[in-house]
Amino acid sequence: MRVRVDEIPDSGRTLSLRWDQEMLDRFVPPDDPFHLKLPEPLQVELFLDKRTDHLTITGTIQGALEVGCHRCLRPFLLPVDEKVDIYLVTEERGEREDEKELEADELLYEFFDGEVIEVDELVAEQIFLGLPVKVLCSEDCRGICPGCGANLNEEACRCKVNHTSRSPFAKLEVLKKKQPEE
Ligand SMILES: [Zn+2]
Ligand SMILES: [Zn+2]
Repeated sequence: MRVRVDEIPDSGRTLSLRWDQEMLDRFVPPDDPFHLKLPEPLQVELFLDKRTDHLTITGTIQGALEVGCHRCLRPFLLPVDEKVDIYLVTEERGEREDEKELEADELLYEFFDGEVIEVDELVAEQIFLGLPVKVLCSEDCRGICPGCGANLNEEACRCKVNHTSRSPFAKLEVLKKKQPEE
């Protein structure tokens, strides 16, 4: 959704959006390490307010994202409860802004052309910024065995015994055996 600044009344404008999979697909990078999915749309509630030299966007993004565990790849639901607090300034103004002032508090500064607010893009940024560096299905997730691919949360490793008893040449033996007989 795009909102023109001149369409925002002086009293501000409330937006209520359902942010769904289709929207997510527009913004998620192709090499998304989180394997993000949205089984249910996120509920986005925003309030756009015009001030003399900037705009503020406040509100919430709530729901749950499906993510793939970074250790075992198993998908699970990660609750989303983001508080939105954006200070929107036009690009020229942003450049003149004192650096120190920009870092003054936890408000997120965003720049725009002064005419059109790309709401969906801002929501996407908020969602991605809110993600932890690493997502785990549980703190003690045991991951996947790099040898046999077993999900160690659910099954025992099938290669453990062989790892220790095999000589470095064991692999060669296997390769030889796999070759069709001439
Ligand atoms: Zn896991
Ligand atoms: Zn294994």
